[in-house]
Amino acid sequence: MAFEGLSERLQGTMTKIKGKGKLSEADVKEMMREVRFALIEADVNLKVVKSFIKKVSERAVGLEVMESLTPGQQVVKIVKDELTELMGGEQSKIEFATRQPTVIMMVGLQGAGKTTTTGKLAGVLRKKNNRKPLLVAADVYRPAAINQLETIGKQLSLPVFSKGTDANPVDIAREAIEHAKAEHLDTVIIDTAGRLHVDEQLMQELKDIRSIKEPDEIFLVVDAMTGQDAVNVAQSFDDAIGITGVVLTKLDGDTRGGAALSIRTVTEKPIKYIGTGEKMDALEPFHPERMASRILGMGDMLSLIEKAQTNVDEAKAKELEEKFRTSSFTFDDFLEQLDQVKQMGPLDEILKMLPGAGKIKGLENAKVDESQMGRVEAIIRSMTIQEKTTPEIINANRKKRIARGSGTSIQDVNRLLKQFEDMKKMMKQMSGMAGKKGKKKMSM
Ligand code: GDP
Repeated sequence: MAFEGLSERLQGTMTKIKGKGKLSEADVKEMMREVRFALIEADVNLKVVKSFIKKVSERAVGLEVMESLTPGQQVVKIVKDELTELMGGEQSKIEFATRQPTVIMMVGLQGAGKTTTTGKLAGVLRKKNNRKPLLVAADVYRPAAINQLETIGKQLSLPVFSKGTDANPVDIAREAIEHAKAEHLDTVIIDTAGRLHVDEQLMQELKDIRSIKEPDEIFLVVDAMTGQDAVNVAQSFDDAIGITGVVLTKLDGDTRGGAALSIRTVTEKPIKYIGTGEKMDALEPFHPERMASRILGMGDMLSLIEKAQTNVDEAKAKELEEKFRTSSFTFDDFLEQLDQVKQMGPLDEILKMLPGAGKIKGLENAKVDESQMGRVEAIIRSMTIQEKTTPEIINANRKKRIARGSGTSIQDVNRLLKQFEDMKKMMKQMSGMAGKKGKKKMSM
């Protein structure tokens, strides 16, 4: 998971400060030293670190007394607010043209994930924004890129406009826009050529494409794993052709997070989306506040809820929520929800979005191997009704019987019981959160 080191360090610092009823200037100084170190370790641009520390320190020293929070909690809130600001503050939404079609140009270096993201974005815009996208293969130098986009188009059942490798990218883009108008496709997403490095020829080609019809958005796709390089690339592209936003890919990897935390401040261009996997649905709108919460271990409940809303039947979701609250979740429910949960993405990723998930011992190892879902189902189906509702009664003998009945091993049964316990723990946490909402005192 991205931001792991940063998250761990910041959470350590925040935990120390959170409980303090009084904060001396020395406390603030010491904390800022730790925060500074955490940011530098995470490969955040030095200028950005400096201005961040300055802002937080100023606010922390001149702290107003708020009745509902301890000074320590207030500082945590300041760090969270400033972290949010650093990443752009408000979520930056996509700009659609008033006259059809909206044209989105995808630019970036080779390997950043441009072609993949072009497909993902089209999928998201169709699903969430009700758009009718046309994918345009304008990377004529790499035949594989055209094939790749065509494959993605087939996979998503979306039209792809391509003219092979002999045509000129500018003509392709122009004809594609005409084609979209004729076919009433309202969103044209152009996959342009990439290079290994920023070069003059590439920039000229992008400028030429841009001049056909001023695109409504020019998205730079950058690989978050490349850290400060990503920031430099963003700066170069912005200087040369003027980008309107950034898509940060590979945030599912173990990037230290420097790019995500520096790009906005350095380029003054917002991160619009983040790529979180190789699959076609692994693209999410970027929410600075949620990301800040996630980094500080406050969980990312809103993203989780949104994921659930997209993939889960609403009535079922309500039922599930009720069960979460009353802690009356059984193995039967587990089975029933398995399918829906599976659609939300990898289970271990979902667990990590829950508040405080980082602190639950052993959760980092609670990987759910999706290919073993069938096995899990078999185990649950081999339980008696009583075992499903009160798994505490499952002793060694029962385990043996269940393993035999499901054609699995006792270890498999043990593993599932442990995972179920972990899930229940998470639910308790969640219901705890919901309960606290109404109270005056904020607890972070
Ligand atoms: P392009 O050269 O910029 O068009 O890059 P591609 O779209 O071909 O992507 C390069 C590689 O990165 C492919 O293997 C993609 O599957 C992978 N990739 C793209 N986005 C993501 C992401 O968000 N997460 C992960 N893990 N891989 C990604």
